[in-house]
Amino acid sequence: MHIDLRSDTVTRPSKEMLAAMMTAKTGDDVYKEDPTVNELESRVAKMFGMDTALFFPSGSMANQAAIKLHTQPGEQLICDKWAHVYNYEGGGVSFNSGVSCKLVDGDRGMITAAQVEEAINPPDFYHSPLTTLVCLENTTNKGGGACYDFAEIEKIRKVCTANNLGLHLDGARLFNALVAKNEDAKDYGKVFDTISICFSKGLGIPLGTVLVGNNDIMQKAIRVRKVLGGGMRQVGIIAAAGLYALDTNVNRLAEDHRKASEIAETLQKQTYVKEVEPTETNIVIFYLTDAVSEEKFMDDLLQKNIKISNMGQGKLRIVTHLDYTDPMHELFLKTLNTYK
Ligand SMILES: *Cc1c(COP(=O)(O)O)cnc(C)c1O
Repeated sequence: MHIDLRSDTVTRPSKEMLAAMMTAKTGDDVYKEDPTVNELESRVAKMFGMDTALFFPSGSMANQAAIKLHTQPGEQLICDKWAHVYNYEGGGVSFNSGVSCKLVDGDRGMITAAQVEEAINPPDFYHSPLTTLVCLENTTNKGGGACYDFAEIEKIRKVCTANNLGLHLDGARLFNALVAKNEDAKDYGKVFDTISICFSKGLGIPLGTVLVGNNDIMQKAIRVRKVLGGGMRQVGIIAAAGLYALDTNVNRLAEDHRKASEIAETLQKQTYVKEVEPTETNIVIFYLTDAVSEEKFMDDLLQKNIKISNMGQGKLRIVTHLDYTDPMHELFLKTLNTYK
């Protein structure tokens, strides 16, 4: 048995998902003639109560397109110091949009309305870059799958409106937050200008992210996607997997969350573990004591065909997902309990 807990992106399409893909109606999506892509986009837009949605090949591209839509070169966006858009998109913020990031020292990847307010450069002070966008992440990746308090997001919305700032959500794992906190997608549609939602994470499709927003801002999205090289042709075969995942793989995220919290509880009891971060969704971040190095621990797990991630600074990460089965879970908990 191979147990891969490095990321929820390692899932493979199930037989049923593949069957849905095999029978998909397709067309050329660059001409907007792929009925399955169009269906996925309109379904997501409706779900969030927003005007329009656009299917992208990756979450990074959807975020980068959103940043381009909200900004002009030389401007500045505000995000947490751990934000994916800043740390893991290859410097795309500056490469694609010529924009800089004002980093906020948040809590597990989450920032507050007060911190946003403080990070805004005065618009008439022409020496500093003009602040035009705030990017939030929910759930947070480097922050261990933490979920925002929705009331704080509403406060941030108010600050953005008062200061003429766009508000983008990197919702790569937004469905995990919706399920964990029993929240409604429509509430998110009301407060954010744009939201990216990955289908290649917890929802288990091979690739793809939907960017959703209202017409005013999304008008140019298709052009930006084309510029970034993200126009795809008969991509309905992938969108069909997305539709299948919306029906089948959303509510079951609760199971991933349960398994993650059981892993966290088990780790907490081990003498070789120094600390486990609070676990709200499908990501567990923990630290080892000086008794064992991260390298040795990961190597010992690898000998048992178990893979986890090292995020640096002593952080080890485990991510539960669709392909992490009950027998794997049992074996993994046993391995943690008996590790020496
Ligand atoms: C995975 C992820 C993305 C998208 O990354 P890709 O590698 O482009 O799929 C964006 N934001 C967050 C928080 C993520 O975890």
